[in-house]
Amino acid sequence: MPHASGRHFLQIPGPTNVPDRVLRAMVAPTIDHRGPAFRDLTREVLAGMATVVQTRHPVVLFPASGTGAWEAALANTLSPGDRVLMAETGHFATLWKGIATRLGLDPLFLPGDWRRGVDGAQVEARLAEDGVHAIKAVCVVHNETSTGVTSDIAAVRRALDAARHPALLLVDTISSLASIDYRHDEWGVDVTVGASQKGLMLPPGLSFNAVGDKALAAHAAARLPRSYWDWGPILAANEKGFFPYTPATNLLFGLREALRMLQAEGLDNVFARHDRHAEATRRAVRTWGLELLCVNPSEYSSSLTAVLTPEGHDAGRLLDVILDRFDMALGVGLGILAGKVFRIGHLGDFNDLSLLGTLAGVEMGLALAGIPHQSGGVGAALAHLTECARSPTAEPAPA
Ligand SMILES: *Cc1c(COP(=O)(O)O)cnc(C)c1O
Repeated sequence: MPHASGRHFLQIPGPTNVPDRVLRAMVAPTIDHRGPAFRDLTREVLAGMATVVQTRHPVVLFPASGTGAWEAALANTLSPGDRVLMAETGHFATLWKGIATRLGLDPLFLPGDWRRGVDGAQVEARLAEDGVHAIKAVCVVHNETSTGVTSDIAAVRRALDAARHPALLLVDTISSLASIDYRHDEWGVDVTVGASQKGLMLPPGLSFNAVGDKALAAHAAARLPRSYWDWGPILAANEKGFFPYTPATNLLFGLREALRMLQAEGLDNVFARHDRHAEATRRAVRTWGLELLCVNPSEYSSSLTAVLTPEGHDAGRLLDVILDRFDMALGVGLGILAGKVFRIGHLGDFNDLSLLGTLAGVEMGLALAGIPHQSGGVGAALAHLTECARSPTAEPAPA
């Protein structure tokens, strides 16, 4: 491999770029995970995580990718054969359903076309039909990373309430947390599933569950086998500032630093920044004359944008060209979207100029790959960002 000068652009929707501050925080001697310094570390990161998830309830951390936390959410609250209602919003929802099936649950999968979010009315109708309350949990993905579609979790909560259904609400916030407003308590979520490598700006390797009171009560009665993922021993050890196994110490150093950075920027500013970059990206895509995968403007994701390539033009080849010529990685189409879609990640440690560099790489790549488009997308994004910078409190309305 020849040396590539300058910074690699990692613009996949996770893992995201790890800020230098976080990298430096992790390059430190590993400490005794039973000592007083560790106790302080545990307390700070658990309190910080609760702030980001917007909850007063405990957060359980796992040294695992997000997939582990998906399994934990199910294994801690459900029993063999339990029916769970899930919604086919895309690839990640489909993967979570696969875990439910393999654990011996009975998922009811509301079909979807991978271009829309969860339909609250459809959820309500299914729950209303379930007079015997066979459905024990509703499991949805807040931000579907394969499609760039964000579902309205408050509407799903309202659906449960309107149907007067006691099912638990389990929500995957892996690619929305610390990028898009997410409110565990206010939205009445019972278990939130998150991971480190997206908006939290850490490398892969940490994930978590935020656990409400109703979920804790379900945990006491749930009969799926659980050991490593069991919340019980972790919550008990966390009370004293420790873990029941050797924790991922250096990732926790990184998490502490990332949480301090998010706190310093302020969550509202973090969300506004992601909204601004997403809107600038969509203006670029429209100017190129390409189609957004997400159909409903109210469901546009602020952490990534998925773009359809015109019929007969392989999105995978475009990404190969962009990587080869400009040293930038973009997200491939996943599952049924392979070759049809490319995904621009604009989440995590990111600013106006990193977005413009990213969009410039896409626009040059479109030309080199011979994909029919209009030039000027970068200019449209630039104009939007300039307008936002001129009057930072009054961002122009979405076009
Ligand atoms: C990235 C992602 C996951 C998968 O997590 P892993 O860390 O790869 O196990 C799950 N759900 C969503 C929405 C994601 O974006």
